[in-house]
Amino acid sequence: MSHAVSPPNGEAIWEHSPAYQRALSNFDAAADVLNLDPNTASRLRRPERIMIVSVPIRRDNGKIEVFTGYRAQHNDSLGPYKGGIRYHQDVDVGEVSALAMSMTWKCALVGLPLGGAKGAIRVDPLSLSYTESQQLTRRYTAEIGPIIGPEVDIPAPDMGTNERHMAWIMDTYSQRHGRATPEVVTGKPVDVGGSVLRTESTGRGVVYTIEEAAGEVGLTLKGSTAVLHGFGNLGTYAALELVKRGVKVIAVGDVSGGYVNEKGLDIPAMFDYARTHRTLEGCAGADRIGPEDVLTIPCDVLVPAAIGHVITGANVNKLRCRILAEGANGPTTPDADVVLQRQGVHIIPDILCNAGGVTVSYFEWVQGGMNFFWSEDEIDQRLSNLLRAAYSRVRDFARERNVSTRTAANCVAIAKVDRVMRLRGLYA
Ligand code: NAD
Repeated sequence: MSHAVSPPNGEAIWEHSPAYQRALSNFDAAADVLNLDPNTASRLRRPERIMIVSVPIRRDNGKIEVFTGYRAQHNDSLGPYKGGIRYHQDVDVGEVSALAMSMTWKCALVGLPLGGAKGAIRVDPLSLSYTESQQLTRRYTAEIGPIIGPEVDIPAPDMGTNERHMAWIMDTYSQRHGRATPEVVTGKPVDVGGSVLRTESTGRGVVYTIEEAAGEVGLTLKGSTAVLHGFGNLGTYAALELVKRGVKVIAVGDVSGGYVNEKGLDIPAMFDYARTHRTLEGCAGADRIGPEDVLTIPCDVLVPAAIGHVITGANVNKLRCRILAEGANGPTTPDADVVLQRQGVHIIPDILCNAGGVTVSYFEWVQGGMNFFWSEDEIDQRLSNLLRAAYSRVRDFARERNVSTRTAANCVAIAKVDRVMRLRGLYA
């Protein structure tokens, strides 16, 4: 989905993107409920800084190609900026800024001492060879170098990037600063100073929130059905965790298509297949449909786990699920959101549902800072505690104020940032 941004006469270019408008619409709804001071709102409605960079690489055919890279920093009232780096062909400055804003709320909601940022390169990750991907990552790191750092802004993986890219970022930053600096990035391989469980953390966290939601709506997970749209880092680990709990995963979709088996897909085999082949193209044991068609398959739990804005006014009436677990960032447009609420679908909003990733990123940052690493059990327990506590805060706020779970999550997060901004005051 391409969001054309028409640069106006030197004004805020991000505001012209539909993705940013949707983020603002969610923010404004929460600000209304909180009766937020307009002075604070005016600061929070825009990112604090956006860097747009040119990233040239020499392609394997010898030609030089220049890509556009971004790093948007929304707010660092609670602590250093934190947010993933996305490689996707349709990403633009508005979407990156919207995702940075969402990171501010996510960190605040879970109670992490971190602010919100997001980075991206406008490139199809599947079009890059290993060498090209490494060059691109290193040059992008050098370009955004002046605004990142272990106490300033700490990137992490997002769609199209993984622990390998984080190792290259760590190495590039370290070479330029003359010392090994693992804490500049999270989501690194464990051997490079990463944390155990970081890779699995987002998907696992999604399932912890699904467990909470199932308890709330009276759904027994064992024997229930699930569908996932997206089968990358988040989707694969969420699917494996669901299967462990006796959930039948009946359909998954990725960029290559949708794969359905009403008797239940062999998720461990598909996990291995996707690892080896980069997509599910050609995998056995499933009927093939379009990638977006999986969203409308009747199921108990639907997990968008890929790109944003896939549940829209155009398909929302065809959705048949009890719980919508927003693994992906921004999968639901505001008009679709209204319909889902009317239909009584229980929504676990993205900033809560997928917060497991940044939570274990935070653990990695903390462990890296003290050079002392926790066990897998310790990390899992801390992750579970923080996410379930955040879930309770959202549930309680939604009940007390009779608002949607999305508005409740945003309110809890925005109120926290507002309190800190008031205490810190305005440097002017
Ligand atoms: P990934 O790159 O590992 O996987 C993305 C998946 O989406 C792949 O299976 C890909 O084939 C699929 N996909 C891409 N375009 C698609 C399309 N048009 N239709 C259907 N499928 C498509 O990415 P990820 O890290 O798993 O991230 C997925 C989502 O989760 C993103 O929205 C991301 O922002 C969010 N998220 C990820 C993390 C994390 O730690 N990785 C943390 C929080 C949120």
